[in-house]
Amino acid sequence: MDPITKLIEEFAHFPGVGPRQARRFAYYLLTRNADTLKEFTEALAKAKKTVGACISCYRLFSSGNTKTTHCMLCADTHRDTSLLMVVAHDVDVESVEKSSGYRGYYFVLGGTVPILETKPEERIRLKKLSSRVKEATGKGLKEIILALDLNPEGEHTGNFLTHSLAPLVKEHGIKISLLGRGLSTGTELQYSDPDTIKNALSNRAPAK
Ligand SMILES: [Zn+2]
Repeated sequence: MDPITKLIEEFAHFPGVGPRQARRFAYYLLTRNADTLKEFTEALAKAKKTVGACISCYRLFSSGNTKTTHCMLCADTHRDTSLLMVVAHDVDVESVEKSSGYRGYYFVLGGTVPILETKPEERIRLKKLSSRVKEATGKGLKEIILALDLNPEGEHTGNFLTHSLAPLVKEHGIKISLLGRGLSTGTELQYSDPDTIKNALSNRAPAK
């Protein structure tokens, strides 16, 4: 395979990037000068070296050269320990934080469950979520908020989680809620504006 095609293929693996956009990215990079490209590859290498997953919420964060195991949000002891929000991806945490309507803690599933998936527990961090919930009950957890995309896969994931967490929730008297209908159907959380997320949060409803 020639190097340009290879580069285009690499970009085509990026989330949300189609073949046309992959092509544009590849040609954009190839028309930069050598110094710019060097900066780019160095930034990438450095990020990869200093970035790790938080051991509490599992989102990626930069620990610099320290041995920090918790991201800034999980390390913040002033947040509300009665709330745990479950999101699909790292970027969703950023979107919710921008809305400044939430002061609890997060858990990143690392994906969603496709409707016909036969091994749903392998697509998301279900075991880690269960451990996180158990740990949080010791610190006053009262509510788990499922903040998933309002599309069929997001709904399916929500149902799967509600079902899977049912025994734990019952045992510890926790409630599970879903984002309110402030978000219109088909909406992806990461593309929602801060006000919409804030409204969806204040209009959240119990999961059935
Ligand atoms: Zn964290």
